[in-house]
Amino acid sequence: MEFATIPIMSSEPNKKVVTRFAPSPTGFLHVGGARTALFNWAYARANGGEFILRIEDTDKARSTPEATKAIIKDMQWLGLDWDQGPDPDADDPYANQIGDRGPYFQSQRSGLYDDAVKKLFEKGRAYYCFKTAEELDALRKAARAAKKPYQYDPADMLALNADKDALQARLDAGDEHVVRFKMPDHDVAVNDEILGEVVVQQAELEDFIIVKKDGGPTFHLANVVDDAAMGVTLVMRAQEHLNNTPKHVALFEALGLEKPRFAHIPLIFNSDGSKMSKRDKAKVARQAAKDAKLESVDGIDGQLFADFLAKKNDELPVALVIAKQLDLVLPEIDVADFRDSGYLPEVLDNYLSLLGWSPGNDVERFGPNPLSFLKENFTLDRIGKSAAKFDRDKLAKFNTEAVVMLPVDDFAARLKAHLAAHYPEYDDLVANDAHFKAFCEGYQERSRSLDEPAKGGRFFVCSDDEIVYDFTPKGIKKAMMKNDGEGFVMLERLVEAFGDLPEEGFGNAAHDWMAKTAEAESLNMGKIAQPIRVAVSSGTVTPPIDATLNILGKARTLTRFKNCIAVKPA
Ligand code: GLU
Repeated sequence: MEFATIPIMSSEPNKKVVTRFAPSPTGFLHVGGARTALFNWAYARANGGEFILRIEDTDKARSTPEATKAIIKDMQWLGLDWDQGPDPDADDPYANQIGDRGPYFQSQRSGLYDDAVKKLFEKGRAYYCFKTAEELDALRKAARAAKKPYQYDPADMLALNADKDALQARLDAGDEHVVRFKMPDHDVAVNDEILGEVVVQQAELEDFIIVKKDGGPTFHLANVVDDAAMGVTLVMRAQEHLNNTPKHVALFEALGLEKPRFAHIPLIFNSDGSKMSKRDKAKVARQAAKDAKLESVDGIDGQLFADFLAKKNDELPVALVIAKQLDLVLPEIDVADFRDSGYLPEVLDNYLSLLGWSPGNDVERFGPNPLSFLKENFTLDRIGKSAAKFDRDKLAKFNTEAVVMLPVDDFAARLKAHLAAHYPEYDDLVANDAHFKAFCEGYQERSRSLDEPAKGGRFFVCSDDEIVYDFTPKGIKKAMMKNDGEGFVMLERLVEAFGDLPEEGFGNAAHDWMAKTAEAESLNMGKIAQPIRVAVSSGTVTPPIDATLNILGKARTLTRFKNCIAVKPA
């Protein structure tokens, strides 16, 4: 693949806005990253600018092509498109890229970083450093003991670098080393679009590493070189990067590159004030395992499990197995988690954009197409400074509203895709148009997500033997056991009555029978419907009886009636 040489763009006012999302492909796209991507996308789109996707894969050990592909997939799912970056539709995004300032994988741009390092050496702003990790540790400890901020002391290294022969001898001997950037001898100011001016005192500035032991560039170097080379005019990222920005500003200046504008967006916290992270899954799984007094879990090493319980590790595989064993939904963190849980992408777009931004006037719901809304309305001046709270209940509420409002065909198409992706046991039901239509009608208005019909409707697709009856929960006890087991008496009667009904249109015929009988005997319909629900589903909530029995059919309905009667408690 050939790429044009990269022009260094200037960042004058009034020029086209260029933003970028620059994930490190070391794992799935989490909500924080998605929010950053969304804000950058929105700002570019709102200003007729360009949005770049750049993959920051300088950490060779932790970056994977799978993570890159997953990030691309998740961004596509959220509806975020980019003007430059890996081609989202290509099988191999590394080989197929769009835009004239690529490549967009840092692993493919090493020549640029080498040039920048050379330039810094020429300007006396880079030097080799041979200090070992232990030596640095000792220096840090000493600084702590003296209650001083730790500042790397470059004097001896600079002296060594000045002595060309001695330096060359160490390099020739293959002594392990890094390259450090010599920070300026003055304070560094970051003019943040959101936080205002943030000044870091010279005494706090540490000469940081720009070339690692393995010869590769660090995040700082590659990030700055690429933002300049790609003509990025606004760097918008989470506040956790604020510590990095003075380093980046100093690098831009030392390299004689035009600085972009910077905007640091608020962190996202859980409702309890803790930082939202992957560990939240471990936390919930651990508590559930303790509550359920689990002593071991399938396929997980005993020691690993014991350590997990003792908070000595937060291993995700352990959390996942616990969740599976206890039928538990772990808190969603990654975009893929939300997709798997049946959230609609536009709901996530809408909700995520409220984490640190608002359009004003208490507007929170952006209609059926939140991305269009953002394109029209997104501005930097409405981004807040303080941390945002991730309110799961509010997100679930948004999702419920959106699911109910979906046009029927749209709901059916999305549910179909969700079932195909996660629940192959629904294949037959989905393939039967009439049944699937009834299923959708039965569930749309009662679903908080696309996953609820799948979970709630399991009784439609399991075998009759898999239905396990428990008559102790309150609603079931009432429906079946009250007045000397009147629910069972009704079921016995229904076995007879429904046995005479036609197979074709069974659910409708059953419903007619129920309506007539209720009227003739002045019976509440619930007295007939609830025992039916319990018998066919082992629960008290199903879609309307006619739809439910149409899908189940006569034979399965009668078998379940009989199975239920057979386990009547004495
Ligand atoms: N690769 C960095 C990250 O994922 C990018 C930071 C930035 O946006 O500059 O955090």
